[in-house]
Amino acid sequence: MVDNRNTTARNSSGGLGRRRFFALAAGGAAAAAGTLIPASAAQAHGDLTSYPGIWGQRTTDWNTSQLKSYKYRPAFHDQLNGWLRFWFETTEYFEKPIRVGLTAAHDDNMGTAHEQGRAIDLAGLTVTQSSGGTVSVFQANYSVWKDLTGSVLAQFRRNYWATSASLHYHFRSVRTYPMGGRYRDSLHVDNLLSGSNTPAFNSSDKSQIFHVQASCRYIWGKGTTIDGMWNTESRRHAHEVLERIGKGGYIGDSKSHWQAFNRATLRKGYSTEEY
Ligand SMILES: [Zn+2]
Repeated sequence: MVDNRNTTARNSSGGLGRRRFFALAAGGAAAAAGTLIPASAAQAHGDLTSYPGIWGQRTTDWNTSQLKSYKYRPAFHDQLNGWLRFWFETTEYFEKPIRVGLTAAHDDNMGTAHEQGRAIDLAGLTVTQSSGGTVSVFQANYSVWKDLTGSVLAQFRRNYWATSASLHYHFRSVRTYPMGGRYRDSLHVDNLLSGSNTPAFNSSDKSQIFHVQASCRYIWGKGTTIDGMWNTESRRHAHEVLERIGKGGYIGDSKSHWQAFNRATLRKGYSTEEY
């Protein structure tokens, strides 16, 4: 898990820059020797491994619906295995096989996390029905369902934020649709900040704040304002949720408070438990 401990700061100040330099130097030497080698981004991101799925469940290219293998840093892929297992076992509801729809994983042109194989853009989750058919149980593309109404909209929204909770449980960096831009199309997850550690709530982290506010509002039925600003209302509503689920305290008190909030939000969002 050593390769997982890098923080954003270390990558930008030292490690990545040094590896880039070596990569360029190697390319230069090869060019001088008369061999044409493309600029070696591969050497900048360390060892990547291609996997056909996550936790044994196949990944698909969301845009083509075709099965597809993706490359990851192995330690990050291990964490994704843990996440999907947690999602499956905590909801206690769905049947395998699960299909994990992605729009991106390793990519040398999407910023540091994707370049290093430490990020995915999650587009959707599909499960198997007892009848043998498949059904979508998470849809990340906000524009697909934002104009729906009534109970159908509520269902899409609950599944969205419940799945967000399962990811926030494991990763510090989870970017959801209120963050705007491409996060309205798919949900971005990476471990640049949390590394191999389990995350805690940080009241200055906008994506975590959006998640808490939206979960309080859409899953727990509070009238919470969703503005990405941590305030007394958000703090109180999250506290009320922690009281309701028997944990008590405040969401920033410890990692276990953050985990309890997210675990219960996952279960309530998918109607596993009402609390
Ligand atoms: Zn991404």
